[in-house]
Amino acid sequence: MESFYTLQGEGFHQGRAAYFIRLGGCDVGCFWCDVKESWDASQHPLLSVEAIVGEAKKYPGRLAVITGGEPLMHSLDELTHALQAAGFETNIETSGSSPLSGNWNWICLSPKKFKAPLPEIVPLAHELKVIIYNKHDFTWAETYAAQVNPTCKLYLQPEWDQSDKVTPLIIDYIKSNPQWELSLQVHKYIHVP
Ligand code: SF4
Repeated sequence: MESFYTLQGEGFHQGRAAYFIRLGGCDVGCFWCDVKESWDASQHPLLSVEAIVGEAKKYPGRLAVITGGEPLMHSLDELTHALQAAGFETNIETSGSSPLSGNWNWICLSPKKFKAPLPEIVPLAHELKVIIYNKHDFTWAETYAAQVNPTCKLYLQPEWDQSDKVTPLIIDYIKSNPQWELSLQVHKYIHVP
């Protein structure tokens, strides 16, 4: 769908220069999705792996973040192999709702209620990032925290449009449950993509 060089705004790698590769296609259907234009993959151009990696190499950063859409709707073996061969760390942001493919230095699992993750991806996550839309989402978050690897980082992130309402709830929750940390969409505050 698009690619761009920016700063990673969310989660464990927040603040790092990163080349984002956003793949078209998503069948999850979050009603609060902020990239609904990604959902229909046929609306976006097909590019070769060589072209994608060639563009990424024009920038000095060597962190590649594959996102979507739901990137695991595509087989990502060839793309991640080419990125790693070119010296990139490969990170993915996924709901985990389609089968895992690709070689990953970091898997950020962001489970969605609308199409749950496949059980086999949950213990492989390096980072669990749960979007909090309302107070019931804390229970949802704990369901997945109980299934991840013990070394997995745990993040709660306010849904952007509900931020004023849910951020105070998240702060209180983390103070009582300090295994969780706050993730903010910093890129939206500093006005970068
Ligand atoms: S999984 Fe991501 S891209 Fe797909 S609908 Fe949900 S927020 Fe949007």
